[in-house]
Amino acid sequence: MSSVKENCQEIERKLGLSLKKVNRERSSIQVVAVTKSVSSEQAITVIEEGYTHLAENRPEGLEAKLEELNNPQLVWHYIGNLQTRKVKKVINKIDYFHALDRLALAEEIEKRANKTISCFVQVNVTGETSKSGISPDDLDGFIDSLLQYPKIRVVGLMTMAPLNAEEIVVRRAFAQLRDLQQTIQEKTLSHAPCTELSMGMSKDYTIAAEEGATFIRIGTSFFE
Ligand SMILES: *Cc1c(COP(=O)(O)O)cnc(C)c1O
Repeated sequence: MSSVKENCQEIERKLGLSLKKVNRERSSIQVVAVTKSVSSEQAITVIEEGYTHLAENRPEGLEAKLEELNNPQLVWHYIGNLQTRKVKKVINKIDYFHALDRLALAEEIEKRANKTISCFVQVNVTGETSKSGISPDDLDGFIDSLLQYPKIRVVGLMTMAPLNAEEIVVRRAFAQLRDLQQTIQEKTLSHAPCTELSMGMSKDYTIAAEEGATFIRIGTSFFE
């Protein structure tokens, strides 16, 4: 097991190589440290390395970290499936929501939020049945119907790569998400600027960076 500090250096080294390949600046991508599986003490070690964007995937985990870390400089992301009845526990504590995948959820967010929420629409690019997310065919219609919820701002699209797939398959999924994102961005919808791409995790963030990710969500690579 290596130290978090060493892990950070390794992540930055690999990310730097990928970004260089495609002529992107480090500042064009935000690394989100996924702290869902670690203690607040461990989370502090990545904050000390300069990472300020943190992500949790359970209401209880989010609440505990917010309280224990108590740091107004942190930017909070909620990733993963959120049950409609838990929206009220979460929505006013976060800066970004990465898993908007159904209208019932949008409706509940509209009802509970005290301000505009920056949301990523989750897309199931590869159509795996086990996975949540809007199918690419339904995406346009879904985004159009979000216009009726003024508190929802679609800042971008999010996806998870197919599990244990070959690099070429993962790359294709990320490229597909980018194509979808660009198509929506070009419509210049006031409620859906859709400029961002949340894709890439510990196993595939270098591919995601090469394919245009602007937010990568890394857990394991920081902490193991
Ligand atoms: C857990 C999780 C991550 C981080 O995964 P790692 O493989 O540990 O980097 C990213 N995104 C989502 C939606 C997750 O649930």
